[in-house]
Amino acid sequence: MQSPVIGITSAHVEEEISTYPRQYYVQAIAQCGGTPLLLPVLAGGGAARRYLELVDGLLLSGGGDVEPRYFGQEPLRGTGKVYPERDSFEIELVRAALQQDMPVLAICRGIQVLNIAQGGDIYQDIYSQAPGVLEHSQKIGRGFPWHKVDLVPDSRLSNVLGSVEVRVNSFHHQAVKTVAPGFEVSATAADGITEAIESNHHRFVIGVQWHPEAMAPSDPMALKLFESFVAASRLKG
Ligand code: MN
Repeated sequence: MQSPVIGITSAHVEEEISTYPRQYYVQAIAQCGGTPLLLPVLAGGGAARRYLELVDGLLLSGGGDVEPRYFGQEPLRGTGKVYPERDSFEIELVRAALQQDMPVLAICRGIQVLNIAQGGDIYQDIYSQAPGVLEHSQKIGRGFPWHKVDLVPDSRLSNVLGSVEVRVNSFHHQAVKTVAPGFEVSATAADGITEAIESNHHRFVIGVQWHPEAMAPSDPMALKLFESFVAASRLKG
């Protein structure tokens, strides 16, 4: 069977060089039989739609904050560094992907981009806007779990992972606040922070706040999410 091509969004050198797509994403896709293809930021001019002609699935990778104007807010103290070109490019890209019912896996920053692109909003900074939340910036290496999440029974994500509770890593200070129309929460942390959302009217559109790609080398459950995503991407059109 042919190997589905998975487009992986990438950061820009001016944004923060350390947030370039980590090799973890590439490895996880390849390990599941997909062909990873990095998509450079190119806002406007129709690049997003042309990119989508080349791929069977879209992976929105992690990175910096989303500029608040993209979800109709003024910047609050606590918002981090933003890179508007990446925001507008990825919003255009994911909207086009959803119009085609292309499988989408959105990771960390990606879940926020996905939710904003479809009309939801986010906490610019959970620590200042939702006092008392857990520590979501873990104090241990990327491959290790940090907090648990409860999965909504019978959600697509729960069915993919075959569980109603998983332990995940955590590297975020933003999080989904108002869930976009047509989407549902599929996982929450013990403090109520949304840790995963999914579309209820697409074949496979899942966003997770954690980084399964960094856990995949050592955690079979994290790899399952990639297996399921790549499998869905084989069925394009
Ligand atoms: Mn978390």
